[in-house]
Amino acid sequence: MTQHIIPLAGVIGHPIAHSKSPRLHKHWLKKHGLPGDYIPMDVKEADLEQVIRTLPKAGFVGVNITIPHKVSVLQIADLVTDRATLIGAANTLIFRKDGKIHADNTDGYGFISNLKQGAPGWRADTGPVTVLGAGGAARAVISSLIEVGAKEILLTNRTRPKAEGLQAEFGSKVRVIDWVQAGNAIEDAATLINTTSLGMEGQPELRVPLDGLQRGSVVTDLVYTPIQTHLLKTAEQAGCVTVDGLGMLLHQAVPAFERWFGIRPVVDVETRAAIL
Ligand code: NAP
Repeated sequence: MTQHIIPLAGVIGHPIAHSKSPRLHKHWLKKHGLPGDYIPMDVKEADLEQVIRTLPKAGFVGVNITIPHKVSVLQIADLVTDRATLIGAANTLIFRKDGKIHADNTDGYGFISNLKQGAPGWRADTGPVTVLGAGGAARAVISSLIEVGAKEILLTNRTRPKAEGLQAEFGSKVRVIDWVQAGNAIEDAATLINTTSLGMEGQPELRVPLDGLQRGSVVTDLVYTPIQTHLLKTAEQAGCVTVDGLGMLLHQAVPAFERWFGIRPVVDVETRAAIL
């Protein structure tokens, strides 16, 4: 049997050049003096299964999965965690020693850990949580909010049937608000979360009415390019506690790194600096 000296991990997507994950994992490997490497891989849908099945034989202990493969990879995995099943997508694969491929989704974990770190004392049950957007990221956000005790989630999305689909799946704690009424849902929010891609570099700006933002409420944006989005700037000026989306990206990587390389890394100022 081949003995691999350095464990390998990586990220599979298409395209992949933009990914910040290699820099992050390489930083932690170096910081902890661990042998290992983390490699970005641009893989097309048609080649996905063959590549994934080959990687363990080449010394890989696991990979991250990103757009557009997060859903289709569930079909390839032998085991899927409950949270990945609930979200309907995986962002992390672990190649087990028994040959089985284990799929997990750590996006919800990363989202909650980031909020707790960025807004100490934050709780999901202190008032309505308003979620803008009903795409893939919203699924992870909503399922994790329910897990940590959110009682009322006001969900608003440009394409209303997608929000209704999530309501049907996640139940009565989710209430759908029409996109044109987003301003009302924002006025009521103790926590406001942007899960749309609006405000991201190259995308249109998020143009929902923000004048109803409550001082002291917690506002977070999943968009992290730019780090300080228009939403976060406006919320800061309104006296809200703001948490940027970069932290979610960093925190979602923690459980994967621990599983692959055996040490639980910490997300700190140095970690952020390493990938900026
Ligand atoms: P997605 O599945 O494509 O969903 C996109 C969402 O944005 C949908 O709700 C969509 O509404 C909405 N949207 C797009 N263009 C719009 C427009 N012009 N007007 C109104 N709504 C619009 O994408 P995703 O995977 O959920 O990702 C969403 C964002 O989160 C991306 O910017 C991504 O980079 C970010 N993200 C960040 C992290 C992190 O770690 N910080 C993790 C995951 C995702 P419709 O349903 O009407 O199309």
